[in-house]
Amino acid sequence: MQYVSTRDKSKPCSASQAILQGLAPDGGLFVPTELPRLTPELLDHLKDMSYPRRAAAVMKLFLDEFTEEELLTYCEAAYGPDRFDTPAVVPLHPMADNTRCLELWHGPTCAFKDLALQMLPHLLAASIRKQKEDRTVCILVATSGDTGKAALEGFRDVDGTKILVFYPRDGVSDVQKLQMITQTGGNVGVCAVNGNFDDTQNGVKRIFSDADFRKVLDGKGLRLSSANSINWGRVLPQIVYYISAWCDLYRDGVIEPGQAVNICVPTGNFGNILAACYAGQMGLPVKRLICASNANNVLTDFLRTGVYDRNRPFHMTTSPSMDILISSNLERLLFLVSGQDDALVRSCMKQLTETGRYEIPAALREKIAGLFWGGFCDDTKTAAAIGKVWTEQNYLIDTHTAVGVDVLSQYRADTGDSDICILASTASPFKFSDSVLRALGDKTPPAGLDAIDELGRRTGVQGPAPLCGLRGRAVRFTDCVEPDGMYPPVSAMA
Ligand SMILES: *Cc1c(COP(=O)(O)O)cnc(C)c1O
Repeated sequence: MQYVSTRDKSKPCSASQAILQGLAPDGGLFVPTELPRLTPELLDHLKDMSYPRRAAAVMKLFLDEFTEEELLTYCEAAYGPDRFDTPAVVPLHPMADNTRCLELWHGPTCAFKDLALQMLPHLLAASIRKQKEDRTVCILVATSGDTGKAALEGFRDVDGTKILVFYPRDGVSDVQKLQMITQTGGNVGVCAVNGNFDDTQNGVKRIFSDADFRKVLDGKGLRLSSANSINWGRVLPQIVYYISAWCDLYRDGVIEPGQAVNICVPTGNFGNILAACYAGQMGLPVKRLICASNANNVLTDFLRTGVYDRNRPFHMTTSPSMDILISSNLERLLFLVSGQDDALVRSCMKQLTETGRYEIPAALREKIAGLFWGGFCDDTKTAAAIGKVWTEQNYLIDTHTAVGVDVLSQYRADTGDSDICILASTASPFKFSDSVLRALGDKTPPAGLDAIDELGRRTGVQGPAPLCGLRGRAVRFTDCVEPDGMYPPVSAMA
């Protein structure tokens, strides 16, 4: 299977090249030139497999340079019992109203990014070998909180890799900071930056674009790489869990063979919902994709009008991982639904860079509207959804998942379509304990780790071990550098 850039499809490359490069040289995103088919026979076959086996089988369809055995080894390591706290890996919780909540937060950092970031290091390390790259890969990450920790956990002690994460000193939550500075592993580093997230990200970009520094590293057998969310190696593992969720419903007799389901995804960068879209395009029976946004509703407007316009106020919400005005992965959707029109994608992305806005042709907008329904809700409705689900169903959800719950009910009211829906639950409620406590009526919730304890005490729900265990963990990383002093000493990286 070949991969091309969304902005120029004339230069195909292999999967391992796409994964190793991350971003295409023209600034576009790598996508497969065709999508493998999920036949009814294949779905039947997948239905009786464990999650790691399903993951290996699905990923094999996209990665012909890899053997299924090899992929299974990676999947068993990535999704094993020392990483995920349930053998189901991504269990489905039955909610009221025909909703099945797909809990994507049973991994080491308690958010869905673990599903991709546990897998990416294995794919990257193998791609290095397949490309006869014998340098050690050094991952540099600038994080506003969640991605850094998930990447650290994913790359921890993976052969042939090192990882260094920078975070803005005062720009992450207490829990997120503790998660990072207590990180274990022999190949990891964490460093605070005396600045905000933009300073941190610019510092990392500066290192990436420094050809001289790359040469120095090269001489020491080191190669820089990124674990950015636009890497194909992060999208692919996300396709798996939608297929797996459908197979669970089929296996358990909840749906008939071939029965279509709706899928609702709380969305920011458009990566997670795009994976669901790919699963549908491959032949998974999917009816409608419901794109749930918070007050940063740039995607809702896009799906309704065909105009993407980031020129609007940025809102800080209680679902911070969705506070995004540029949804990078939308570029892949445009390429897909336009019949691989790279010229169109190029033109839209140029306009986005220059003016912050673009408009797609009406025919394309209609095609997208057939696949997606977009909605959004504010923090008040988000809190109300948490309270309602807790009171009526005794089930605790986080703020991001709550946005999905609210928008799904809007969808059902608007369309009358109450068919079974898989709702992606993207984080453990304990990861956002203070907002969840407020939603449950606590006017002055405690901060940091105390909020985690308080949420457990108040609800009787057991918090996840990786968060509860943070108290008493040894702090390993205390360095703080200035934004212009972020170059890591090469000796420390070798
Ligand atoms: C990253 C994240 C999202 C948004 O996912 P995208 O793939 O960027 O759309 C939603 N919820 C949580 C908890 C996240 O960490």
